[in-house]
Amino acid sequence: MDGIGYGGHAMNQTATRANGAPAGSPAILCEGLIRIYTVADVDVVALSGLDLRVEAGEVVAIVGASGSGKSTLMNIIGGLDTPTAGRAVVAGHDLGRMREAERTAYRRRVVGFVWQQAERNLLPYLTAAENVELPLLLSRTGARDRVRRAHEALDLVRVAPERRNLRPGRLSGGEQQRVAVAVALANRPSVLLADEPTGELDTASAGELFDALRGVNRELGTTIVLVTHDPLVAEHVGRTVAIRDGRTSSETLRRLGDGVGGELTSEEFAVLDQSGRLQLPKAHVDALGLDRRVRLRLEQDHIGVWPDAGATGAQGDDRG
Ligand code: ADP
Ligand code: MG
Repeated sequence: MDGIGYGGHAMNQTATRANGAPAGSPAILCEGLIRIYTVADVDVVALSGLDLRVEAGEVVAIVGASGSGKSTLMNIIGGLDTPTAGRAVVAGHDLGRMREAERTAYRRRVVGFVWQQAERNLLPYLTAAENVELPLLLSRTGARDRVRRAHEALDLVRVAPERRNLRPGRLSGGEQQRVAVAVALANRPSVLLADEPTGELDTASAGELFDALRGVNRELGTTIVLVTHDPLVAEHVGRTVAIRDGRTSSETLRRLGDGVGGELTSEEFAVLDQSGRLQLPKAHVDALGLDRRVRLRLEQDHIGVWPDAGATGAQGDDRG
């Protein structure tokens, strides 16, 4: 499989203009997102000042331990949940300022959502094709266009014509998830969100689903954000963002090298937030026994970080 681009082809420009956002502005911009859930008087901080920028036409994978805030982030971007503080702008829509009617329209037309559980994506008593037509019906698309567009979407995700009149229960798990992508795409959203869409699939079906998502990105220029545990999937996207404790902690970029044959290389970066904060990788912290304070020194082209040597002694904590 070849890699996915980082945006920049002609389709992306069209997609950006089609959704009303000024050309060149990011598809998704999250700044200092905070989400606190209060359960029985206890506050759970699911997002603790998360920053994320995704360009139009990009495919980004989100990875992170269970409970790190991935689904909370997806639900906020998808307009299903609202942040406690911070800002999220998607395709020109400021999610914190949307009224209920705009929010409904936003969920119907601007974003598409694919969940991990196939049952949550599809209605069991409708056929695959009818499932794809449903969002078109809700957005008042005429009958003939509904049928045509449902088939186009199912073509794109490679669901065979003879399988389209079956109900989800008769389809394989992989087919169900590909139909779910077609459902999410029916109204041509500019952003497609998928929360662990391959979580319940075997490797081969996961590969097919990912190929389908890649085709969608290539053909329609749709911006895609997907949460995944699958290292294979993360290997084939331009950018992987790791979330730790409700914040973006690192990003891995894959780039085509300069050499002949253009080998793909990947490099992991730490993320600098709006206020200049940096989260050091746990391995680095452990390796040098960093604790509470570090010394920083600005060099000509880098910054050095040293453990606070005095802190290890008995009176270390009292030093200024
Ligand atoms: P992930 O998808 O990365 O596993 P989540 O976003 O689902 O993480 O959860 C992040 C944190 O927020 C977890 O500690 C989780 O228990 C908590 N959380 C998520 N949703 C709710 C909710 N509806 N009510 C209370 N706590 C929640
Ligand atoms: Mg989750």
